[in-house]
Amino acid sequence: MKQAAVIGSGTMGNGIAHVLSQAGIPVSLIDISEDALKKALATIDKNMGRQVEKGVLTDEARKKAMANITTTTFLTEGIKEADLVVEAATENVDLKLKIFREVDANTKPGTILASNTSSISITKIASATKSPENVIGMHFMNPVPVMKLVEVIRGYATSDAVTQTIMDLSRKLGKVPVEVNDYPGFVANRILMPMINEAIYSLYEGVAGVYEIDTVMKLGMAHPMGPLQLADFIGLDTCLSILNVLHQGFGNPKYAPCPLLVNMVQAGHHGVKSGQGFFKYTPGSKDLVVADRFR
Ligand code: NAD
Repeated sequence: MKQAAVIGSGTMGNGIAHVLSQAGIPVSLIDISEDALKKALATIDKNMGRQVEKGVLTDEARKKAMANITTTTFLTEGIKEADLVVEAATENVDLKLKIFREVDANTKPGTILASNTSSISITKIASATKSPENVIGMHFMNPVPVMKLVEVIRGYATSDAVTQTIMDLSRKLGKVPVEVNDYPGFVANRILMPMINEAIYSLYEGVAGVYEIDTVMKLGMAHPMGPLQLADFIGLDTCLSILNVLHQGFGNPKYAPCPLLVNMVQAGHHGVKSGQGFFKYTPGSKDLVVADRFR
């Protein structure tokens, strides 16, 4: 792998550029927003600085990795030399289809086209290209530099060779790749989202309160975070859209989003990012407000 491109420099894109550049792969980081690119570089620098403080990265390696990253707002410029493109733009199916159409038309033959989508069908994304065998899901977890898992999703037409290359690359990035097939929610969200939805139903039906539900799952099941707080971290709007993908994709009412979740999203209570979800957060941070922290 001589050159990679990452499309979208938000939460996930900057983390993906971080781990690729740290593994010695030059990365072109692409976004439509100059401001997002500036923020992404600052975030990567800060996160690599933390790794230096912890002694897991030398300062020389940090400088080398930072020098491996270039940024651009011109998609075709950023992808033209790439052997691998990882798309991590906003979760919107029409946007992803448009991006993949453009990427397919402007990359070298044989370039691997990966998407970090949490829920959109890889087979559908691949249908926007002329080489669906080169399209694959590379689902990193948040925060990318810390989380070990990469869910590697084979679309209907993804080739064995492309799958093998992405499994090997994920290991080179220090991750543990797991191969799964392309069905709604893949594995991670197919299992996680119904659990979160059930926790919300337990609250909605008055079985227990927010604190009680999360405490049962933390202390009883050894989960590091309760399902309601985890939903706040993921974003309640994101949880709702993934549940809708599961519900529509399988046509099974067991995936129907809880009406309380729908109401909260409509009210603008999106979790950490809006400062209010099942818990209240200190504005601009992931910290619980004091009253919630000491309950
Ligand atoms: P984000 O909103 O933080 O970042 C998205 C970025 O994409 C923004 O900077 C935006 O300017 C950019 N963008 C939008 N349109 C673009 C275009 N046409 N070309 C280039 N850039 C464009 O989103 P995120 O949380 O980083 O999510 C990105 C992807 O990763 C989504 O598909 C999401 O489902 C997936 N994902 C997210 C998480 C998570 O926890 N946030 C976890 C796993 C997967």
